[in-house]
Amino acid sequence: MGVGSAVCGPWGVCQVKTKMDFPSINQKTAEGVAPGGKPYRILIVDDSMFVKKQLGQILTSEGFEVVDSASNGEEAIEKYKQHYPQVDLVTMDITMPGMDGVTALERIVAFDKDARVVMVSALGKQDLVKKSFLLGAKNYIVKPLDRKKVLERIVRVIKGS
Ligand SMILES: [Mg+2]
Repeated sequence: MGVGSAVCGPWGVCQVKTKMDFPSINQKTAEGVAPGGKPYRILIVDDSMFVKKQLGQILTSEGFEVVDSASNGEEAIEKYKQHYPQVDLVTMDITMPGMDGVTALERIVAFDKDARVVMVSALGKQDLVKKSFLLGAKNYIVKPLDRKKVLERIVRVIKGS
């Protein structure tokens, strides 16, 4: 046996449920894994250790691979070039000390016009988000982070719709 759990009805009659009894669970594929079986690779850019960790947990729990992280714009560009072309998407915080996320986005797109960058912003930064879209950002996520929205937007960008 090993895999499975016992389900007991009245009169102490127990039935062992195996994986076969939960086809819908078995069929659910992780969104972070490409059709060939390789995980999509993400570079996380944020000056907040908390947000980095939170994004990392959301992404890895869905099968994505976090290739690296950066805490400011300069580091983001450096890491992007270092890992290129093994980066499928960048999450880019807008507000960071040193070079901000909008400038880093612009430089990354200048280096790789096909870069997929999703901006991460606090509420009330609509002008910067708008500017980011003009500079080539593919989508945005608003903090505080909502797991469902984070995954939905990242998956949408990765799948190119
Ligand atoms: Mg920040």
